[in-house]
Amino acid sequence: MSAVAAEKKSYTRAVITAPQTIVMEDVPLPEIDRDQVLVRMRAAALCTWEQRTFAGTDTWSYPLVGGHENSGIIVAIGSDVELKAKVGDQVALAGSKRCGQCNSCRRGVLNLCDNARSQRVAGKAWGPGGFGEYVVAEGYQVYPVGPVATPLEAALTEPTACVIHDMKKHPVKNGDVVVIVGAGIMGLLHLMLAKKIPCTVIVSEPDPDRRAKAKELGADALIDPSTEDYVERVKELSGGNGANVTYMAIGVPRAIEAALLGAAKRGIVSCYASIQPRGSTITVDPNVFHDREVVLSGAIAQDPDDFLAASQIIGRRELDLRPLISMVFPLSKLADAFAAASRKDTYRVLVQPDEEYAASHQGKAAGRSS
Ligand SMILES: [Zn+2]
Ligand SMILES: [Zn+2]
Repeated sequence: MSAVAAEKKSYTRAVITAPQTIVMEDVPLPEIDRDQVLVRMRAAALCTWEQRTFAGTDTWSYPLVGGHENSGIIVAIGSDVELKAKVGDQVALAGSKRCGQCNSCRRGVLNLCDNARSQRVAGKAWGPGGFGEYVVAEGYQVYPVGPVATPLEAALTEPTACVIHDMKKHPVKNGDVVVIVGAGIMGLLHLMLAKKIPCTVIVSEPDPDRRAKAKELGADALIDPSTEDYVERVKELSGGNGANVTYMAIGVPRAIEAALLGAAKRGIVSCYASIQPRGSTITVDPNVFHDREVVLSGAIAQDPDDFLAASQIIGRRELDLRPLISMVFPLSKLADAFAAASRKDTYRVLVQPDEEYAASHQGKAAGRSS
């Protein structure tokens, strides 16, 4: 497998240079340093960051080589890398930088490293790199994912780690009533993980197909907030007590206000999704915090232990992510993949940068499944 790297002098990557603009570039394959790992990408998913960048609603990161949710195989390991992995092993990459030297890193707030965006040099193509055939990663960013998982499943290690992080900060206890607001992929990941714990999970989602998907994946009850009173329904479904934990998997301010009113005494509401547009506000009687000790919180990205947990449960397929993989495209069709990802009836859309591998695994790893 290392021969693949040895033979290649250059590789292809897709750079988002402006709204609706993708440039396929052929660039030299870089040498790795002693503490780096060279990974040949097999799958990368289209998350909201990449989707907003392509759409032009998020413009800070041009020119971007996206693909922060990715997987591949190791083709070369630097001599100083201490990783328990070898050439040919399947891995997922945690793209976020942990500098280890800033105030946040030293306080153990590893998901919020103060230098997380410092990899960027203005005007130069940069980014996590899953939308390219190869990525050079630091040893600490590389997580082995067991071979039971296909590359497409392994590429969902990063979003799963983010959800594990949210649920670590705002844990579900046995017997809790949990509400998940929004049944996109992030809401469904919360649902699948919550269902591993004996608890009642209610999913609130206006789209009927997404509600049906939530039901299929184990939701105990459903709310259609477009026709039903959210707070009333949560109270009704929880014996009048409200929700112990509410995960906001959509970023709608009015839904956060409703979640606070639907929370149980000492209930927690976590803003998992970013709230769009930025600068939005919510209106709440702060007595909800005083009278009922409700907690409003949030979560972003992941710590190393979250990524490790995700890589392990996905690698053993203890968490089966196949229901969330909707469509797969070759990297050269990235624009089509973005169009598919923006549709309401898809969960995760992925590209396969290693088109040779993808062709030889058609129908098994590739292929549509929703
Ligand atoms: Zn993501
Ligand atoms: Zn740091």
